[in-house]
Amino acid sequence: MIGNAGNGEQRMREGSIGHNRILVETRNLQKRFPVKSGFWGRVAGIGKRELVAIRGITLQIREGETLGVVGESGCGKTTLGRALLYLNPPFSGEVIFAGKNLGKLSRQELRQLRQQMQPIFQNPYASLNPRMTVKESILEPLQIYGVGTREEQEERVTYLLERVGIDPRLQDRYPHEFSGGQRQRLAIARALALQPRFIVADEPVSALDVSIQAQILNLLCSLQDEYRLTYLFISHDLSVVHYLSNRIAVMYLGEIVEIADADTLFDAPAHPYTRALLSAIPIPDPWDTTPQIVLPGNVPDPLDPPAGCPFHPRCPERIERCVQDKPTLQPVGTDHQVSCHLASSL
Ligand code: SF4
Repeated sequence: MIGNAGNGEQRMREGSIGHNRILVETRNLQKRFPVKSGFWGRVAGIGKRELVAIRGITLQIREGETLGVVGESGCGKTTLGRALLYLNPPFSGEVIFAGKNLGKLSRQELRQLRQQMQPIFQNPYASLNPRMTVKESILEPLQIYGVGTREEQEERVTYLLERVGIDPRLQDRYPHEFSGGQRQRLAIARALALQPRFIVADEPVSALDVSIQAQILNLLCSLQDEYRLTYLFISHDLSVVHYLSNRIAVMYLGEIVEIADADTLFDAPAHPYTRALLSAIPIPDPWDTTPQIVLPGNVPDPLDPPAGCPFHPRCPERIERCVQDKPTLQPVGTDHQVSCHLASSL
């Protein structure tokens, strides 16, 4: 449901991404959080009671592509994004960026590499200090990393503001003096300051009006073309993800249950959960009578995940085997993997 999408809608997904080299890779990534309990919020202890936010995720992101990640709130999308940036180092598994295993780098090496990996958050205030002017906020990463002379840094601030569609004459104002969409543009300018190669955009348009969403998504597209950026684009909104992504990964309870080329996922979803998510997208056609798949119940408690297939308590297609036997991601076509016992019969 992206207004003003124009002819650019298919453009992002038609490139020769399949031949590009891998920029980011995870191997069996796990992230666990100890659970605090009691009046003083004591940690119950690793191994005793812990929340497994991501469970053994292995994926690859090619240079210049956008991998969209969708799923309901609490499925582990944000934790995955933060683990890729090493903002939340994983509990186990590996993150490889540009051929370097982040877990094996020294603090100094990791700090240097972080210039190439930047986040854009849903709330721009997470990247913009409300007590800093716009100019100070964008200058800050350049100063921390000692990039260029003062004059070059100021020129870069002006250039970046122009590039994201903000009048550079407003650079001495504070974030609260801008609208929500403008603040997100400022957060993007700051994220671009160090000329990164990889950006994790975590729900960057969910808090914006639909018309503003389209502008920000189009800006992200044009920046990707210009700077050959690689995106991990996280959203709960499949139509937004479809607009921007080359490939889409669907997450449920900390795992990827389906990953495919964006068009394949939309045209031939193979996992019952993906089909349910797709059926919930409003279709602007009054004659369309396709019934929505309403899933019973809620997402299970991640502290007490079900045995067998984690989706089985809600799955309209479950069979006896699903209750005990956990499926794993299996290829069902070119660049298409699904975690479902029924996938082999497709
Ligand atoms: Fe449904 Fe079974 Fe497939 Fe899980 S494995 S998604 S319960 S059919």
